[in-house]
Amino acid sequence: MADSGLLIVVSGPSGAGKGTICDALRARFPQVHYSISMTTRPPRPGEKEGVNYYFTDTAHFEALLAQDAFLEYAKVYDHYYGTPKQYVYDALARGEHVLLEIDIQGAMQVRKHYPQCLCVYIVPPNRQVLAARLHGRHTDSEEVIAGRLQKTQAELAWMKEYDYVIVNDRLAAAIEQMEAIIRAEACRCARNGNTLSRICAAYQE
Ligand code: 5GP
Repeated sequence: MADSGLLIVVSGPSGAGKGTICDALRARFPQVHYSISMTTRPPRPGEKEGVNYYFTDTAHFEALLAQDAFLEYAKVYDHYYGTPKQYVYDALARGEHVLLEIDIQGAMQVRKHYPQCLCVYIVPPNRQVLAARLHGRHTDSEEVIAGRLQKTQAELAWMKEYDYVIVNDRLAAAIEQMEAIIRAEACRCARNGNTLSRICAAYQE
């Protein structure tokens, strides 16, 4: 019910369960748009163009960067990732929510350009659980996994910059928390100036 759409920014280490939580939200919030990022990293098995990412090459990505076509972008593990700007702003202007699943560098850029965004950090309860999840998905080499664990440790210092943290110990609970956060934020008075004015008008004698 917020006056305008919420820009929901979700970050957390690879293997935190962000994707699974965001997928579960699709069923509960059919009105939320999922921004599809563009990346120069090659597709993983099963990933589809235009569904998981728009896959492109470095030259094309850099040309779009020069045209200021991204709301934010980052270079992660030697590959570019970026959020196409137009799609996001169009949906917000229509009063629809948009969810971005992006890394910390990107989230902080979004916060700068769009301070009213809602930033949520999702993290497994400890290093052992994260390591087990990364091993369990069989998509990354030992070396990549070690890099991701190290990066996560360094990034924890940024957690406090987010509005909310979800410790993803039990998936069902984490999904419920995410849903509760979105529903509460949509009711926040500061986001609902028009609604407050309407209510006041409705109480005039
Ligand atoms: P992966 O390669 O595992 O899909 O993603 C690697 C990292 O890039 C993840 O932390 C993911 O959240 C982040 N990422 C994905 N898309 C974007 C984006 O558009 N912008 C930014 N800044 N990070 C992104």
